[in-house]
Amino acid sequence: MRRKLPRASLALALALLACLLAPAARAIEAVRTPLDARVIDLTKSVESYSSAGDRLLVATAPGADGIVRRIEVRAREEGTRPNWIVFALSNDTGEQIERLIVAPHFRLVGSGVIWPDLGATRISAITASQGYPPEREDSEDADVFRLTLDPGATVTYVAELRTPNLPQLHLWEPDAYKDRQTSLALYKGIVIGVAGLLALFLTIVFVVRGAVIFPAAAALAWTVLIYVCIDFGFWSRIFGGEGASDRIWRAGTESILAATLLVFLFAYLNLNRWHVRASHVAAIWLLFLAALVGLAVYDAPVAAGVARISIAAVGAVGFVLVLYLAIHGYDRAVMLIPTWFLLLAWIVGAAFAVTGALTNDLVSPALIGGLVLIVMLIGFTIMQNAFVGSGLAHGAVSDSERKALALAGGGDVIFDWDVAADRIYVSPEIEAQLGLPRGALEGPASTWFDVLHPSERDRYRASLDAMLEQRRGRINQDFRLRAADGQYHWFRLRARPVVGADGEALRVVGTLADVTEAKAAEERLLHDAVHDSLTGLPNRELFHDRLGAALALAEADPNLRPAVMCLDVDRFKEINASAGFPAGDSILIALARRLSRVLKPQDTLARLQGDEFVALIVSEKEQSRIAELASAALRVASTPVAFSDREIPLSTSIGVAFYDPQLHARREDMVKDAEIAMRHAKRLGGGRVETFRATMRALRSDRVGLAADLRRALERGEMKLFFQPIVRLEDRTVAGFEALLRWDHPREGRLGPAEFIPVAEETGTIIDLGLFALKRAASELSVWQRALDVDPPLFVSVNVSSRQLLRHDLIGDVKSALSRVEVAPGSLKLELTESLVMENPELAAQMLTRIRELGAGLALDDFGTGFSSLAYLQRFPFDTLKIDRSFVGRNGSGARPIILRSIVALAHDLGMDVVAEGVEDESDAIELSQLGCEYAQGFAFGHPISADEARKLVGAASVAA
Ligand code: C2E
Ligand code: CA
Ligand code: CA
Repeated sequence: MRRKLPRASLALALALLACLLAPAARAIEAVRTPLDARVIDLTKSVESYSSAGDRLLVATAPGADGIVRRIEVRAREEGTRPNWIVFALSNDTGEQIERLIVAPHFRLVGSGVIWPDLGATRISAITASQGYPPEREDSEDADVFRLTLDPGATVTYVAELRTPNLPQLHLWEPDAYKDRQTSLALYKGIVIGVAGLLALFLTIVFVVRGAVIFPAAAALAWTVLIYVCIDFGFWSRIFGGEGASDRIWRAGTESILAATLLVFLFAYLNLNRWHVRASHVAAIWLLFLAALVGLAVYDAPVAAGVARISIAAVGAVGFVLVLYLAIHGYDRAVMLIPTWFLLLAWIVGAAFAVTGALTNDLVSPALIGGLVLIVMLIGFTIMQNAFVGSGLAHGAVSDSERKALALAGGGDVIFDWDVAADRIYVSPEIEAQLGLPRGALEGPASTWFDVLHPSERDRYRASLDAMLEQRRGRINQDFRLRAADGQYHWFRLRARPVVGADGEALRVVGTLADVTEAKAAEERLLHDAVHDSLTGLPNRELFHDRLGAALALAEADPNLRPAVMCLDVDRFKEINASAGFPAGDSILIALARRLSRVLKPQDTLARLQGDEFVALIVSEKEQSRIAELASAALRVASTPVAFSDREIPLSTSIGVAFYDPQLHARREDMVKDAEIAMRHAKRLGGGRVETFRATMRALRSDRVGLAADLRRALERGEMKLFFQPIVRLEDRTVAGFEALLRWDHPREGRLGPAEFIPVAEETGTIIDLGLFALKRAASELSVWQRALDVDPPLFVSVNVSSRQLLRHDLIGDVKSALSRVEVAPGSLKLELTESLVMENPELAAQMLTRIRELGAGLALDDFGTGFSSLAYLQRFPFDTLKIDRSFVGRNGSGARPIILRSIVALAHDLGMDVVAEGVEDESDAIELSQLGCEYAQGFAFGHPISADEARKLVGAASVAA
């Protein structure tokens, strides 16, 4: 090391000149150096001179003699224009004093946040105004100069700086300095040792257990270790290099520290699980920090400054995250709270230190120690986390552990009653489930009374008592416990006593299982067993049970006259077919509700099947009162039902049977009689109430017999085709007829189509019947037409059933009917209902077109009972529209004329003739005529008549068939 020689003589010679040239040079005050002072802080006592050139001229401190001299100092290298500091020391003792001037290279304290001072060699040389020049001592982390002060001397020192400023300058007593260095070295050694062990330990754990959190923590530990080594000067000792490279290392490590802290936080809190965006933010941040490491090589202070801010940011963001997640019950976050608090405290402390607000000499080593402590805490936290949950995952579990696990897995919770202490313990899950505070179900056995269902308290007490008395056996009972919201939950308690050596029951231990769902299912099953699932009404079994009870009472008490009322919706099948099953279901539900309202609570309303309801009436005894009740039921059951903004017209037939001890020995008989009366009501056109009379039983046609009879009816000539006239409204002349089947049954008399068509459809006889009707109608028509030559010619319309249209060769039938006779084109018409064509619209459209081509006409029957719009029906080639009698008769609503008018107008627009059905009186006829309807059919113009009568009517009586 070259030494800058003092040039005192030169200085003296130039003193005068210098005085004129450099007026800035002031005399400075000397610092007294007492013998016993271990260390004197010179930082504040120095005078700094920023670079004015390569030379500095200063006035020395006045000595004992009071003389101020001037000295000039030159930079060691030309052109470096260094900064200078000047200080003076005086020795007023009688002894020679040896001291060390110490200027540390790096100090965390006061290094700054932005563009921090990362340290470097501070002093390149010191010049003394007199005596021996200070000698540089060997030191890694400071510039140390040894100086000697003679007794009574006052010496001014000028130090040439390497850095723009000098953060600290101390004057040490050499032994004291040595002591401090030694003790610091010990401290450093310990800290480095701990940091090293931590890093090693976490690395080993990482190798053993692969969870991400371990490498993250290990990386953090290694980074801290490196930082500690750098700060304590071990790094440069190992890797060599002073000054510049040290600064790069330091800045780089600070960046990595920020990065590893972030990675640790991310991995520990599983942030990627909470939100994808968390991963993105972390990734960007990491990339940024990696760039920072690169930057450290070029501009260490900038990199270090950003890294320091980044560490503070990670600390703050982490703190918010940890608090947030901890509040939301995330265990890991809760466990990290103490560590993070320490980290925050550390960051605050470090911030104070680097900004210079905290300037104790011990701050720096304390902060380094704190950093290691934080890593240690982190290590503990993750260790706890890793091993708490994992102990069971690996290796063997004891039998009792396995039992506990199995219990938890099965969803059961523990119930444990310590008999001697009278304390119940239950697993906290059950309290959580019930929304009760922890411990609400614990305590003496009697605490349970508060939450038990009142009707189960006694059973609960008895069960526990039995365990104590018998000391064996098992409780297997279901109890209801009230949750915080007032709902009861079912729990099954299964427990058995644990008996001590003295034979007494020590505790009762077992499990509690939530069986609420199973109970609910059980209750539903019980309800379903006796209730109809659609309407919720009692079903057949429950009804028969109640009927049996009512009849048993009636047998004993002649005053009681229970009645059974049977209700059946008219043409329900058609409603289902045309409006769909949901509509059908709505109707049934609405009916159930309406009928329940009509009946009294003592009465029982049940749904037997399909659209058949049955009511047991015990609330009334008088026949007249029951009849009133039945007509009230009929009223509500005939009010249209609203379904998805449509009104579905409704008609119901009701049969009533009164209890008669002679007739009703069996309860089924009463229901059967009510059904017979109901069927009778249907036979009479439906929409009415009929009371059972014994004579009706004879009329009862059992279906099997009827089906057999039906097969022979045609051969035996029992089937007749009747004709109901259809008149032209403008002149009341007969325009045509509708052919209607009648069956002259040998025993049951004349039956209407309602009584045998359904059976015929079921058995398939309808096909022969249909062909019969078609042929008969066609031949009659040809007779009429021959007798009465009018224009347009007379027509006949024949009803077609669904079986005929969809499952049989209707086209062939029409062809054969038309081939045998000669009739005017289009005058033989087929009548089809809307629901019939809607069963298979595509096929129907094709078939109807073919039939039209064969020369038959087509009439749309019962229009208005279905739901298709006329516009839709337009795609079927109908030439006639028959308005259903429910729109025509007196019972229609006030809006009738408007509806009728629009139907007629629309039908005409579509090129169809309109026939109004069920015209029963003259006023209807006049009204319809005014509405523009051209044809009418109904009792006002004639009932269905036999073929002979029809011939007479058209003046064809003499014409041979
Ligand atoms: P529909 O096609 O609506 O036939 C008209 C029904 O209304 C006939 O009942 C008729 O007697 C009755 N009626 C006529 N004018 C009035 C009136 O002013 N007021 C009232 N309340 N009713 C009137 P019917 O003869 O008992 O026939 C019932 C149903 O049986 C017919 O209803 C039709 O769908 C079916 N049907 C009749 N003959 C045949 C047939 O040959 N083949 C098929 N497949 N079905 C037939
Ligand atoms: Ca008809
Ligand atoms: Ca009709």
